[in-house]
Formats: sequence, structure tokens, C-alpha cells
Amino acid sequence: MPTQSTSPHLPFGENKNAPWYGMDILSVKQFSRTDLEYVFGVAHEMRGMVERVGTFDLLKGKILANLFYEPSTRTSSSFTAAMERLGGSVIPINEVKYSSVSKGESLPDTIRTLECYADVIVLRHPETGSAAIAAKAARKPIINAGDGVGEHPTQALLDLFTISEELGRLDGLTVTMLGDLKYGRTVHSLARLLTLFGARLNYVSPEILRMPKEVMEEVADKGIVQTEFGSLEKVLAETDVLYVTRVQKERFEDVADYEKVKGAYVIDPDVMKAAKSEMIVMHPLPRVGEISPDFDDDPRAAYFRQMEYGLYVRMALLAMVLGKA
Ligand code: ASP
Repeated sequence: MPTQSTSPHLPFGENKNAPWYGMDILSVKQFSRTDLEYVFGVAHEMRGMVERVGTFDLLKGKILANLFYEPSTRTSSSFTAAMERLGGSVIPINEVKYSSVSKGESLPDTIRTLECYADVIVLRHPETGSAAIAAKAARKPIINAGDGVGEHPTQALLDLFTISEELGRLDGLTVTMLGDLKYGRTVHSLARLLTLFGARLNYVSPEILRMPKEVMEEVADKGIVQTEFGSLEKVLAETDVLYVTRVQKERFEDVADYEKVKGAYVIDPDVMKAAKSEMIVMHPLPRVGEISPDFDDDPRAAYFRQMEYGLYVRMALLAMVLGKA
């Protein structure tokens, strides 16, 4: 949709000159360092407000359509919580099988329908590029909440906010991504975003789950050093951020391949003895065995705090695209 909406139906009270007013959020490629500082500044304010007053009326009268064609716990509920903490309301469509999608309705038509009722649409869909297709059909802002193995930009923004809050810096970090780097969309977005901060990237994965060439080429074009490994041993000691991912069972064509790699890495207190004391372990969650619960009480385990940071970042994004930040 255009940056400046021309719809006569938009409610009063938005600042149409606000930098992100009316914009879609489809990819991390849309964000510069200055944009990120802005997002994180707003997220900080949101955190302060939630701590002080819990819920407030910044988006009173606004409606979010939460359209999920794939399972979700955190993304869906944090967008709902974000909208409701800002005083807005939500149309939840988590079970597309109960909507007209099951009658064969196309994505563009479903989007055109929902934008008659909502001011912003959050979309998760199994196909790469689906968010861009939706945005083309829509007059209202579309927020990509995961498009297949493509991107998960709001996750990467909250991941970066987590790193910044936890380590107090973003520049020059050594970030080790572990697990399913082929199908894990969160690492595709995060690797791209980290190019803005001169990170050193280590990729640790089974041979069949390596980071896609296309992502590596984009990252290399930005002058970032990337190194691939089969095991964590060589890089754990130098790692500032260990970003663990789940093997994405649902994306495998052959379940036998999944069985071969599913237990490839397990982070537990013993493994973590080799890591620095000042570093963090992150995970977009859900975890299915790749981080032992025995590690949860370690101060370096940031994955539960990471979820909370997600609320503030998503509040910031909703306020931004609706012209209230
Ligand atoms: N929740 C994340 C995603 O939707 C990570 C995962 O499912 O493994 O991509």
C-alpha cells in the first residue's frame, strides 16, 4: 500500500506525517539504523507505560485483524496483547479452516475483506512472499508475522531489541546461530538485520540445514564475516549471542531427513561451561529439546525475557503504522 494512505475512511487523530504512518512491515530490509533507534525508543516508552499503567488509550477505537494461516502462540498473542494494552481491539482469525479460506477464498480477497473492518492486518502464512502479495491487495498496513521460510521481521526486531537491552550494545558482536538455518525464517531476518551493526556471524548446523546461499550472499555484500561450522565447540567461547533454533519439522519433505537431524544439538549447563559469563542465549521458541530446561535458571538464558521484549516492540510497531508514535 502507499506510504500515505488516501482512504477517506481512516479515523481521525493520526499523525499522517509520522514516519511509518500507513506503511507495511514486510521485511527487515526496510529498516536502517536510524529506523531501529526510533523503533527501540518507542518500545522503551511502551515498556515504561506498561509498567506504570498497564493499559492506555493510544489506539482506542482502532482494530487489528490477526490472520494466522499457520500455528502461533507468541506472535499471535503478543500482537493481541499489544493492541489491547494500547486500548484497541482485535479480530482473531487463528483457525482459517473455520473462515472462508476453507471455501477456497484467495489471500487477496480475504485481505480485502478484513480491511473493510480493521485498520491494520497482521498476517502469518506458509508461503514465502505472501505478505508482499497481501500488501499489494491492501490499502491498510500489512505486518508480516512470518511468510513460510522467508522472513519474520517483527521477530528479528524484537531479537535485536533483546540484544540491545540485555548486552547494552549492538555493534561488533559475535553472534552464533545454531540449528535449522535453512528453514528457520527468524535467522534469515536476524542475519540481515545484524549487517547494520558489523556483527561477526557463525552458523552452526547439520549439513542439510545450512543457511541459504541467497541470505549468505546478501549478508556478504554488506561486508560481514560469516563462517559455517558443523559443531558448536570451536565458536562457543567467543560467542556474545547464541541464537538457538528449532528444527522446523513441518518444512521437511522427507520425514526421514528430519529424524536424522532432530537431536543434533542440545544446550545444557554442561555445554554452557565453555561460554563466557557475559553473553546471552536466545531462542524464538517454541523449543523442542534443543535447550534443556536445566539451563533455564542460568542468568544467560534470555529466551523468556525475549518474549516480553516482543510485546513492547509490537506495541511500538502498531502505534507507528497507525500514526500514533
Ligand atoms: N516461532 C518462530 C516462527 O514462527 C520460530 C519457530 O517456529 O521455530 O518462525
